[in-house]
Amino acid sequence: MDNKLRTDKVVDVKNLHISFRTFRGYPHVLNGVNLYVKKKERISIVGETGCGKTTTVNAIAQILAKQARIDDGEIFFKGSNVLTMPQKELKKLRAENVSIIFQDPIASLNPVFTIGQQLKEVIRYSGVEGAADKNVQQERAINALKETSLPDPERIMDSYPFQLSGGMRQRICIAMSLATPRDLVMADEPTTNLDVTIQDQVLKTLRQRVEEKESALILITHSLGVAREMADRIYVMYAGNMVETASSKDIFRECLHPYTKGLMSCIPKLAGGGIAEGIPGHIPNYMDPPPGCRFAPRCPYATARCSEKQPPMFEAAPEHFVSCYLYENGKVMTKENSDGK
Ligand code: SF4
Repeated sequence: MDNKLRTDKVVDVKNLHISFRTFRGYPHVLNGVNLYVKKKERISIVGETGCGKTTTVNAIAQILAKQARIDDGEIFFKGSNVLTMPQKELKKLRAENVSIIFQDPIASLNPVFTIGQQLKEVIRYSGVEGAADKNVQQERAINALKETSLPDPERIMDSYPFQLSGGMRQRICIAMSLATPRDLVMADEPTTNLDVTIQDQVLKTLRQRVEEKESALILITHSLGVAREMADRIYVMYAGNMVETASSKDIFRECLHPYTKGLMSCIPKLAGGGIAEGIPGHIPNYMDPPPGCRFAPRCPYATARCSEKQPPMFEAAPEHFVSCYLYENGKVMTKENSDGK
């Protein structure tokens, strides 16, 4: 792909393979991940816990654990490969262009500094005009808190994280990540630890702020409902592979991959019966994953061929990609053909 196309994309991950050093060897956790997000676009990565969503995001930000080993692949940020970038440039990129909102706000905030001190520190290193000026820092910090609808921002500036509720802390993390313009915001299960009434407010705030700042968003979630609300496009991930990607509309109108179908069947229905179906089995052991399609041991449509070679991405419908042999001729799986005949 030429550079012009790469630079249309804020992030472009290509064929990323990552292993982790353990006492028993190197489990191959990411198995050729491809993903991109464009300016002003919101994408979501969905999948079960342990399928590689967080590793993908940490790889983009280059904050992987020391045990991680990148075996292959490329990660471009606005056309520059972050894997070959000098440390100094990488630090600058993270400080000025990339924000990450983690699952647990209490772990993201420093308990011994006030919210104001932490917000001002982020602004100071952001590279925005006047970032070194204390008045600019104060003004931007207060505005960031106001924009996330936090009441009484002056009081919050002087508070310590433990003095605030979980919902407030998570909104402060959003304020921090968007206090200055960012090309990319990555949010890793930002509402998992919050109760449902707060979840909705936090997601709404995140969406609004990302839209206003014209940032690209990568949202990790295990909830298809959240992905549908938040994302333009969805990537479904299973055991280190992207198995399906399409617009949120298309995925919800007709998902194709047997794993996505399984996930959909797990969404509780008002009429009941949703949870009972589920997906039998579990994510494979990464030390010894099944050959070929990693979903084969759980797939009701698996044939001998599925265990021979990993299926590539097939374009089963316009802009709807699926990694499954059932679609190699663009054939859409229906009740009639889904028996693998
Ligand atoms: Fe199932 Fe085979 Fe498709 Fe994998 S490639 S999802 S095993 S039918």
